[in-house]
Parts: sequence; structure tokens; C-alpha cells
Amino acid sequence: MITITGQEPHASFDATDDRKAREACGVCGVYAPGMDVARMTFFALYALQHRGQESAGICTVERGIAHIHKGLGLVSQVFNEDNLGVLRGSLSIGHTRYATTGSSVHLTNAQPYLIETALGPLGIAHNGNLTNTPALRRDLLQRGVGLTSSSDSEVITQMLAGADGQTWDARIQDFMRTAEGAYSLAILTRDAVYAVRDPWGFRPLCIGRVNGSGWVVASESCALSTIDATFVREIEPGEIIRLGADGVTSWRTPARPRQALCIFEYVYFARPDSLLEGRSVHWVRRKLGARLAQEHPIDADMVIGVPDSATAHAIGYSNESGVPFGEGLIKNRYIGRTFIQPDERLRRRKVALKYNPLPDLSGKRIILVDDSIVRGTTSGPIVALLRQAGAREVHMRVASPPIRYPCFMGVDMASQDELIAAHQSTDEIARHIGVDSLAYLSLEGLRSAVPGNGVGHCQACFDGDY
Ligand code: AMP
Repeated sequence: MITITGQEPHASFDATDDRKAREACGVCGVYAPGMDVARMTFFALYALQHRGQESAGICTVERGIAHIHKGLGLVSQVFNEDNLGVLRGSLSIGHTRYATTGSSVHLTNAQPYLIETALGPLGIAHNGNLTNTPALRRDLLQRGVGLTSSSDSEVITQMLAGADGQTWDARIQDFMRTAEGAYSLAILTRDAVYAVRDPWGFRPLCIGRVNGSGWVVASESCALSTIDATFVREIEPGEIIRLGADGVTSWRTPARPRQALCIFEYVYFARPDSLLEGRSVHWVRRKLGARLAQEHPIDADMVIGVPDSATAHAIGYSNESGVPFGEGLIKNRYIGRTFIQPDERLRRRKVALKYNPLPDLSGKRIILVDDSIVRGTTSGPIVALLRQAGAREVHMRVASPPIRYPCFMGVDMASQDELIAAHQSTDEIARHIGVDSLAYLSLEGLRSAVPGNGVGHCQACFDGDY
């Protein structure tokens, strides 16, 4: 049986609109008998908010009965004491969904997905993007399975429900034989939480212990720290983990010839206090900044980062170059990310709403460090703000290479037409954003800062090698 609270879906969907299929999100799952798992999931999602602000949802199971609440907006907007109180049980999963530019902001796309199956309730929270969704959809529809959205996560839910095998362990393995692309999943069943990572390991997923006998899985380790869980390890590419009454069970499906953790997690996406591949993301970002300073030095009075995402890169640049680090721009903490507004005009206006320059920029030569340039819409207005504040020169340094290719693996990276570096040279971009000079980190420089010298990472947005 399933109980549902939350807004009623009221969406129209176009299954042929592939823009809607891109999902970059945060997922988590908790197995902790005797504890308030919904509240733990809520706080874990709170820590994963940067991975998605469009919708949030939690699904729990209590003696075979599933409860779900999901809604549009931030975790803190979707949940309150009343709806958390309904989410009883000892197992749960949660999801925050990332706004995909151009995609519909409707509850039909909100996760987790929850259905009743022959093996009891099945809840799915997915981060990633399947690359063979059209074929999988056709196959499901031909088998008479109805779909309510254009989301590949619903396809995963229905594939698992109809997969071969009498147990979820077998069905998940069957699903993994046909699914292609990126998926880090938290799956809820009658008596276990599963965590599954695709054989390439595109998106992160880790596991931790809580309160002695409980277990937590989450997209990033920052979610574990928030709920006082101890990080145990990352879930390996191709690994299936089951958390249940008999503890932790793990299966490994055949590995791919190489692995492909998204390198952009290090550049921008992950929280700096998370660990990826045994390294602090903050440490990697400082190293990216240091390498950028080696590759593209320039005489200046002050290094500033675009807050908050490029602060660590800017500190790294400053330490390496000896040019003092300064704050420069103050960010309004209560404004969401610029990309939430897909409309170009609003994106421009939001930059001024989001940042204010400090007066001590006056007369100074500034090195402005940002982690990345995607569409090139944010940088121009920021540079204009710095000049209005009296900056004498603005030299922009970008701690990642030019982004020329779209992402099909779950990061909303804009389409190729929208990617400024796909169509303009560095000099043209410099003129477009109004800087005195512009330079990007090389791909070798990026790889050298990442664990394993970048081997085993997807860098397709930079080099087009999917
Ligand atoms: P743009 O104006 O499109 O060039 O946006 C670049 C800015 O957005 C940089 O300051 C990044 O920190 C940030 N950013 C990079 N990637 C993304 C993404 N996938 N979604 C939202 N913001 C991003």
C-alpha cells in the first residue's frame, strides 16, 4: 500500500522533448530501525541542496506500507513538521532535483518515483541520465507499460518493476544489463534500501554508518557529516549495495574498461567539503587555482573569486602567485542560483541582484577567478560591476578549460548552441565579457589536479569524447 501527500501533479509533457531527460540531482537513502529516518533524510537532502533546487521528495516504508511526500522548491519549502510526521518507517530515500534549463518545472518530474509492484512498494531516486532512454521507452510502451512523464527516472522505475527475477537483487542486475549511461540510484523496497552506481561511475555515491547499526547512502559525503554519520567509502562503479536487516550486502557487476567520474564535479558541482575519490574537493579546487596561476600569471593587485563556487580556486591562485586574495564581491546568500531562471533577460538582471562589489576595488588591477564559463552570461555583468566599483583592470582567469560540448550524463550544461566557447575564440569571449585579458586552465592542468591525474574521469564537456 502507498500513501501520498503533496501537491497533485498538473503537468503537460512532451515525451519527444529530450531536454527534459537531463537530470542532475542529489540522492540519499537511510536504513536505521528505531530512528526518525524521514528527519535524517530531510537533513541529508538539506546538505545536498546545491545538487538540485527545483523539487524535493522523501519516501519511507513502514511495515510494507510506503509513504511519500514531494513538492516543488527547496527542501525547506517542501517539508514541514506535519508532512515529515506522516513519513514513518525505518527505511527511506530522498531526492533533490536540479532545474534543467528549458525543462518543465512540474511535480510530474519530481522524485522519488513510487509505485506498487508484485514485490511490494518500489521507490526510486535517480541522479544521472540514461543515454538509451528512447529505446527503453519504446520497449516499455510496446510491453503495455504506461508512462506519466518524459523522465528517464520513471523509465528506470518501470524497468525494475518488470525486470526478470524474483528478488530485487536479481531485478537490479537485470536492469543493469540493459541500461546505458549515468545512474546513481537510491532504491526503496519493502525491507531494504539499495544503492546502485552505473559501471562507469559517472555520478558520485558514498556510504556511511550512523548510530552504530544504521546505514546511509548519499550523493556526497557532506550529507553524511550533516547527519552525524561516519563516511565509510565510495560505492564503486558497477556496485549494488543492499542495506537491510542482515546488514550490508554488496554485488559487483562487470567493470567497464575505464571509469568515468564527471570531472566537472571537482570544478563546480560538488560541495567543497565533500570527499571524492579520497580527496577533499576544496583541496582539488585550490590545486586547480594554483595550476591556473602557473599557466596564466599576470601582474595585479588583488585576486578575487566569484563567490561562492570559485572561492577555493581563487585562494589557490593567490597562494601560488603571491598576489593577495581579497573578497571583492559580496553575494546575497538568499538568492538561488542564476540558472534557475532560464530566461536570458532575467539571468542578466539576477547577476546584479546577487552580487555587490566592495569599495576597496577602486583603482586596483583585479584578477577575477571563476570556476567555469558556460553560456558566458554571468561574467559580463560581473566584470561591469567591478568596473563600476572603480577597478582599473580586470583579468579573468577560468579554472577549467573552455566548455565546448554539451553533457549527456546528467549535468545541465546548456545545448551546444548556447555554449559560448563552442562558437567564439578566447579573444572574442574576452571582448564579449569586457575584460582586459582572459585565459582558461588547460585540460592537462585540470587533469593534473584531479586524483589519478584525471585518468578514469569523463571530461566530454571539454573534449567531446563521450
Ligand atoms: P554562464 O553565465 O552560463 O557562463 O555561467 C557560468 C557560471 O555558472 C559560473 O560562475 C559557474 O560557477 C556557474 N555554473 C557552472 N556550471 C553550472 C551549471 N551546470 N549549472 C549552473 N551554474 C553553473
